[in-house]
Parts: sequence; C-alpha cells; structure tokens
Amino acid sequence: MTALPDFAKAIAADHKMWRDFLGLCDCGGRLAGTQSERHALALIAAEAEIATGRDARSLPIPYRGWSVRQASLTLAGGVTAPCQPLVRTIATPAGGLAAEVIDLGRGTPEEFEAHADDIAGRIAMVRHELMFAAGTIHRRRKYLAAVAAGAVGFLIVGPVPGKLVAGSSGRQGGSGIPAAGIAPETAAMLRRTARGWPTVTLQIETEEAPAESQTLLFDLAGLGNDWVVLSAHIDGHDGGESAIDNATGVAAALAAARALAPHVKGFRRGLRLAFFSVEEWALTGSAHYVESLSAAERQSIALNANLDSVGGSGELAALTSGFAALEPFLLEVAEASGVALRTVRPLMQNSDHANFALAGIPALRLVAGFDDPNANLRYVLTAADTRDKVAETELRQAATLTANIVAAACTANDALAAGWRRQRSRA
Ligand SMILES: [Zn+2]
Repeated sequence: MTALPDFAKAIAADHKMWRDFLGLCDCGGRLAGTQSERHALALIAAEAEIATGRDARSLPIPYRGWSVRQASLTLAGGVTAPCQPLVRTIATPAGGLAAEVIDLGRGTPEEFEAHADDIAGRIAMVRHELMFAAGTIHRRRKYLAAVAAGAVGFLIVGPVPGKLVAGSSGRQGGSGIPAAGIAPETAAMLRRTARGWPTVTLQIETEEAPAESQTLLFDLAGLGNDWVVLSAHIDGHDGGESAIDNATGVAAALAAARALAPHVKGFRRGLRLAFFSVEEWALTGSAHYVESLSAAERQSIALNANLDSVGGSGELAALTSGFAALEPFLLEVAEASGVALRTVRPLMQNSDHANFALAGIPALRLVAGFDDPNANLRYVLTAADTRDKVAETELRQAATLTANIVAAACTANDALAAGWRRQRSRA
C-alpha cells in the first residue's frame, strides 16, 4: 500500500464530528416522513456540501408513506399498556383487535413448530434479539412465521426495562397482521395462567399515502472513472434519538469525508458520499439507488463502505457480505490504523450495503459491538438509543478507520480491486 496522509491526525482535530452527532440527535428519532427526518436531511446536506465543496445531487425516493394516528393495548381489567406500532404495520379493524396472546418465547422456528396448532386466531408474542450477533433470528422471520401460522396479530417484546421496541413490521405489500412493540413489563402481565391465554385488545390506526424522501450524493472525482461509495443512513425510529443507529454512522462519514476531501483528486478512484433514507423500511433508499445504476455504473463502483451503528462500543466489525477477498485488505488497513477489526463474512441484509452486495458490488458494513450482548448496541431500536450511549472516542476511532479504508480502497491497484468482486457466499 502506498503511503497515505495521516487521517487520524485530521480526525483528532475535527471539531465538527461530535457537533454533527449531537445535531442529528437533536433532530429526534428521524422516522422517515417526519419533520425530524427533514431537519436531518437539511443538516446533513449543508454539512456535506461544506465537507466536499460540492452541491448535493438529490435522488428522489418515492415510497409508500405511513404514520400512526393512534395506538393502544388494553389488557384484562381495562389496564392499558404502552405499545409502539412497528413501521408499516397494517391497522387493526375499527374498534380494535381483541384476541388471546400466545407467548412463543424468543420466537424460534422450533417454538413456532411446537405451538403450530395453538397459534391460529391468536396474537403471537415473541422477543426482540440483539441484531448484531451470529445466529440472530430477525424480527421479519418471526413476523412471517406468525403470519404463516395463522396469527391475527404480532407483539414483540423489547429487551430494555420500561422501554418499547421499534422496527419494521416486515410487511411488503398490502396484507399482513397488526404488529407492535411492547415493554418487558407488559409481557410479564401477558403470561398464560391456569385459566388460559390472556386476552388483549390491540388498536392501531394508521394513515398511508404516497410519500417521497431523498438520497443525497456528493461526488469527489479521482484520477480515473471508478468510485468508492461511502454511505450511511439518515433515518431512524420514533421515541429516542436514533443516536447509535445511525447518528454515529452519519457523523463518522462526514468526518471521514472532511479528512479525505483535500486528497481525493490525487487518488485513482473518486469518493462518492451517499446518505440514504427510508433504510429502516426494508432498505428502500439504497434499493432505489442501486436499481438506478446501469451495469457500467455498477462496475465502476469498486467498493461500498457502509457505516451503520459504529458507536456504542469500542469493538468494530466489518460485515463483508461474502466478499472474502476484502478481508485481508481490511485487516491490513485496520492493523496499520492500530484498530482491532473483526471480519464477519455471511451477507447480512441488515443495512444498505446489502443492496450493493446483492448487485455484485463489493460491500461492507462497519458496525460496533457485534456479538457483544453487553454493548450499548442492545439499546438500538428502543427509546434508550440516545447520545449518552456513545463515546466520542468510539466515533473518532470509527471515522479514522473509515477514512483509512476509503483512502486505501481509492488507491488500491486495479488487480487488487478486481479481486474483491469474487463473492464466495450469499445468504
Ligand atoms: Zn441502521
């Protein structure tokens, strides 16, 4: 590898990074379609224009807008408990959905199988899991298992006492079952007793209408025609500040871009900074972007480095999406940066890098706290995902490693970069 500028020094002196992070947290949860998301888009556009000296190229993202008018969960005796409708859930019938709740524990395939005869006509209740771990069963799979077993509703129990849990319902088209997150205390009140399964009334009123968001792109050309895409998603969930997920990724990407910008014109490949939205809704923004590219444009992207939840732990992992040849390259950069990086190979469709990988573009997600149940990443998707869960040192480390990875990818020789495109496995 050729000698590169000392980005650690530039990022250590970057006073804007932490301010950007706090500014994004100040916007609130940034649920797509809200004023909070629009504020964040404006803030990021302004900061990225300063960082790159380029005007934003905005790609419109049409999507099916969705919002909650009202939601409630009523237990036996008229006790009400807080609930958070999962993103894009269908509404309940007017007057609510009254049904028994069947607790399926974690919601493994075995639990669904063992209760196969009991689920139809009832509301399936499962547990939210740490998303950043090997063997995690994604909420979407549990939801689909509930639908397949004939459940009439879906409740997912958050991991943090007193807090709800959010997330996408996993619904793609028009149909589905009403779905909401609840707190662990509520789940405790929904235990089966000798009298049978408890009955609840779930009421969710929603509003759906065509909506539009944006992808923001900033191109800093290199010497040739190829690109490294550095991306992070803007949007989040109601309730908290979506601080770890993903104010950290956006602030680190901006800091890396500021450090890289003066050097890119001398690099073999250019830097394309991409901020996606509607990520929390089935990775919609990046899906539109990748679909919009011609075959030649896809070929011209040497690498997508996607930052999603890069603070909340000092341990960083690169999810390499089956691109095995990326791993020695990334480890070499990490070692030269003095950062212990773990590589995780299976393609995980848990952030925007997945859309690049599925299109055959070498792609990685940088994520903190992978496989660590005690990392603050456990608060992601809950209202406890707030700024106090992130340390400035974690963000600086992630931004520095990112700048080093992007610079190394921008300057790697063509033979090395061509080797990255061999994808070994697809999950
Ligand atoms: Zn995320």
